[in-house]
Amino acid sequence: MVDELGARLKTYEGRAAAVAGRGKDPVNEPMIRHWCEAMGDTNPAYAGPDAVAPPTMLQAWTMGGLSGYTGRTGRTGAYDELFDLLDEAGCTSVVATDCEQEYLRPLRPGDEVTFDAVIESVSDRKTTKLGTGYFVTTRMDVRVGPDLVGTHRFRILKYAPAHKKGNGKERREGKREGVRARRPRLVVNRDNAGFWEGVQRHQLLIQRCTDCGTLRHPWLPGCNACGGPDWDTVEASGEGTVYSYVVMHHPPFPAFDPPYAVGLIELAEGVRIVSNVVGVPYDKVRMGLPVRLEFQRYDDEDGPLVLPVFRAQEDREGGAG
Ligand SMILES: [Zn+2]
Repeated sequence: MVDELGARLKTYEGRAAAVAGRGKDPVNEPMIRHWCEAMGDTNPAYAGPDAVAPPTMLQAWTMGGLSGYTGRTGRTGAYDELFDLLDEAGCTSVVATDCEQEYLRPLRPGDEVTFDAVIESVSDRKTTKLGTGYFVTTRMDVRVGPDLVGTHRFRILKYAPAHKKGNGKERREGKREGVRARRPRLVVNRDNAGFWEGVQRHQLLIQRCTDCGTLRHPWLPGCNACGGPDWDTVEASGEGTVYSYVVMHHPPFPAFDPPYAVGLIELAEGVRIVSNVVGVPYDKVRMGLPVRLEFQRYDDEDGPLVLPVFRAQEDREGGAG
């Protein structure tokens, strides 16, 4: 079968997506420090008089910031044209799938970066669980003066949703029209399948490294403490406290009624998990609030859905006085 759209999309390979972009700020110590604090990265290479920037900050130096597009010099129309072609073909949804970076030399405070972006490749038509569409890979070359210091590849899937139930606007307004919005489905992969299987059995399983015994959550393929690949699980007792939380007001999201609290729950075992705090108004959630694990069903037209939530244990704090 000839894929005419695919052939047309291929003609965009190699075309510029942005030329002569310029970083808003030179590489600088305050941004490095904030990054390291946010990441919890205490590597001494990123501080002091001979500091280098964390390599993974590469893209940060090229970003336009909240003031956005006005700061984006030299952007070409090719990327927009490619998107228009895909939109016209019904591939109206987009999801970022992965990025790859390559570092050629460290960036240091004072370096002023420039960057060019090219549409590196457009895949053949692919059918995924989300729908059918095309993967578009953009490569950004980051330079200081004439020297290439790193590359940043960014891949998206632009696709026609597999089961389309109204456009985004209709979905957002679904509640107003009396259509019950569906809760997001689980994203299950080989690394976290065991966790979600446990949840279906009403067990909250924590991964434990069998080399060094360190517990970890969320589930990962290896141990952050020792690098060991082998693990087993322990079942959480269900006791915990609210370590931190945010109250979501905006933007509204289908199936959720703002304002609501999203908690970072510290389990008695010491690991933390993001979850809903239930059984208490959003403005009564506080750090240190004792909570206990429950499993809640959120069944809808997409089928059964079981999620771990944490119920406030108000009675415990009340009695002390
Ligand atoms: Zn370990």
